[in-house]
This record gives sequence, structure tokens and C-alpha cells, in this order.
Amino acid sequence: MKAAVNNQFKGKLTIQDIEKPIIGVKDILVKIHACGVCHTDLHACHGDWPVKPKMPLVPGHEGVGEIVEVGEQIKHLNIGDRVGIPWLYSSCGHCDYCLTGDENLCLSQQNAGYSVDGSYAEYCRADGEYAVKIPDNISYVDAAPLFCAGVTTYKALKVSSAKPGDWVAIFGIGGLGHLAVQYAVAMGLNVVAVDTGEDKLNLAKKLGAEVCLDFKTTDVVTEVLSATGGVHASICTAVSKSGFEQSYKVVRRGGKCVLVGLPPEEMPLPIFDTVLNGVSVVGSIVGTRKDLIECLDFAARGKIKAITIEKKLEDINEIFDDMINGDITGRVVMKI
Ligand code: NAD
Ligand code: ZN
Ligand code: ZN
Repeated sequence: MKAAVNNQFKGKLTIQDIEKPIIGVKDILVKIHACGVCHTDLHACHGDWPVKPKMPLVPGHEGVGEIVEVGEQIKHLNIGDRVGIPWLYSSCGHCDYCLTGDENLCLSQQNAGYSVDGSYAEYCRADGEYAVKIPDNISYVDAAPLFCAGVTTYKALKVSSAKPGDWVAIFGIGGLGHLAVQYAVAMGLNVVAVDTGEDKLNLAKKLGAEVCLDFKTTDVVTEVLSATGGVHASICTAVSKSGFEQSYKVVRRGGKCVLVGLPPEEMPLPIFDTVLNGVSVVGSIVGTRKDLIECLDFAARGKIKAITIEKKLEDINEIFDDMINGDITGRVVMKI
């Protein structure tokens, strides 16, 4: 089968003919129709993080398609079902985290397109217990970004504890951030959007953000504080240390700064301000299967819709270049 393969960190991906996966009794085989390109895939191919991916690697954790084979122990899925294969490829199912609804924190989890091969390919193996069905009225292209960008930002907003009428600031209006704005609006929150360039800020405005700020031309912290008095929560999806610093500084007393983006840097945290202001700084990592089902339901009800740019698997190296340059407005989805 055809796949885009990363053979060495920071090397170009190559389109190769590799073996089609063989499934086990609890697996399914998915014929991939589309796969979103997440900034995490770029971090994986660059070896940015302390925990390294398998190598060679078939990236991709926003793969969607139809089931073509079902392992004999999987009874709730059938050939022909439309499913997606998220970052949370599997978890152990019996540790404290799995038992208490935090399977996304399981220490024994596998991750699609990182510890196991992902969906930049014509076929992808999935754990039948962790692939999630796509509602009938969402197309493959529209569904793909929800399997990471959607569930991650939906979950981050839950983690933020923001309530209807509260202010939330979204830093980074990229693949994740443009969905964060939509989920926040759908949840009744007032939204500040921070990124750079007319395209992204106009998109944020169109999607319902009330205050849109360009981090290259404005004093973001001063502007957010004067417009909102300090936000109840900030969600940082920016791939930049300065974005994290600003997202911390705009939170009001008692508010939450939710860290989502994963630049390979450290974030300085002032102890005095954090203590005196009673600010929480919390990480949020993708979501559970239940979060994913909920986030897909928002799309099925027409409350959110990914802005997608359709490309081909063969375009992957140019897509990565555009991502590095910040030239993508919405989410690129490769049709496979
Ligand atoms: P993306 O490239 O589509 O978007 C990132 C955006 O951040 C871009 O629009 C860029 O212009 C903007 N940006 C850069 N510096 C900024 C700043 N100082 N202030 C505001 N905006 C700034 O990337 P993406 O796919 O949305 O992913 C974003 C990050 O989230 C990546 O690091 C990715 O690995 C991470 N991620 C985390 C999770 C999780 O579960 N926590 C899940 C998926 C992705
Ligand atoms: Zn577990
Ligand atoms: Zn992702």
C-alpha cells in the first residue's frame, strides 16, 4: 500500500510502497479516505520532544475511513462502518486513570502516528475498542480534524471550567485554535482570539470571536486586560514560548491558563503572581473516547465545522513547510 514515511528526524517524508497492516483479533483495518495534518505530526518528524516516536514512522492521527476488516473479538463494529483513528490509539483499560475516566493519561497508552504507525497511508490498523464512529451527516474531510484538533480543544475548554458568559482567550488560531473558537462560542463563552495576519484574524472574527488581536502588531496583554478585565480562562495552542507567557498574563484572579500547544521549550512561571492571584496553570492532552463522541456530536448538529484545505498525500512536504511558516488558515486534510 502507499504511505508517506518519515525515515529520519528532520528528513523529507517519502511516498513508499509498504506492507498493508495485518490485524489481530481485537483490531480493525481501516481504508483511509482522508487524514488531517496536525502540528504534532511535524513535531514527531522533527524528533522535537523528550519521548521519541518509532522510526521509520507513518505519521497521522486524524485518519478517517471505512472498515474493511474486523478482528473476531470486535463485535460492535462492522465492515463498512465509518470511523476515525485518534491520537489515543489504545490505553490499558485497567489502571487508575483508565478506570476513573482519564484514559488519555494512561501510562501504557499507544499513540497513532507516533508509537504505532498512523494514517498517512491507504490503510491503517486500529484497536477496535478505540476507533470512534463518525456520525452519518459529517463528511470524511470535515470529520478528520475533529479526531485531534476538535477533541483536544473541546476537552481543553472543559478543563478550563469556563462557564457561559465567561471570557476565554484562545492563543493560536491554527488547526486547533480555529476549532477552539467555535467550541467556545457554541458553549456560550465570549472569545478573544490571538494570532497574526489578516487571514487568521478575519477567520476568528467570522467564527464569532469578539476581540481579535495580532501578536506581531499589538500589545496583546494590555489589550486583553483592558477589553475583558482579565479572562476567566486562556487556552494556549500557540507553538511559541511568548504565546504561553502572554496566555498566562491575561488570566484574571482565580482563572485558569490551559496549556495545549507543545513547543519544545520551558515556560517561566512567576511564583509570587501565581500564588497571590490564585491562578491555575494546567495541561490538557487530547481527550477520551467520550470527549471525542461529544465533540463529533457538536459537528453533527451543525454547531461547529472545521475549515479545511484539501490536499493530497504527495503534498505532505509542502504542507509541513507551510505549517512551519504559519501559512495555513484552518486545517489541511489530505484525501487519500
Ligand atoms: P498550527 O500550526 O495549525 O497552529 C499554530 C498557530 O499558532 C499558528 O496559527 C501560529 O500562527 C500561531 N502562533 C504562533 N506563535 C503565536 C503566538 N505567539 N501567539 C499566538 N499565536 C501564535 O498547529 P496546530 O495543529 O493547531 O497545533 C498547535 C500545537 O498544539 C502544536 O504544538 C501541537 O503539537 C499541539 N497539540 C497539542 C495537543 C494536546 O493534546 N495538548 C493536541 C494536538 C496538538
Ligand atoms: Zn491505563
Ligand atoms: Zn494532533
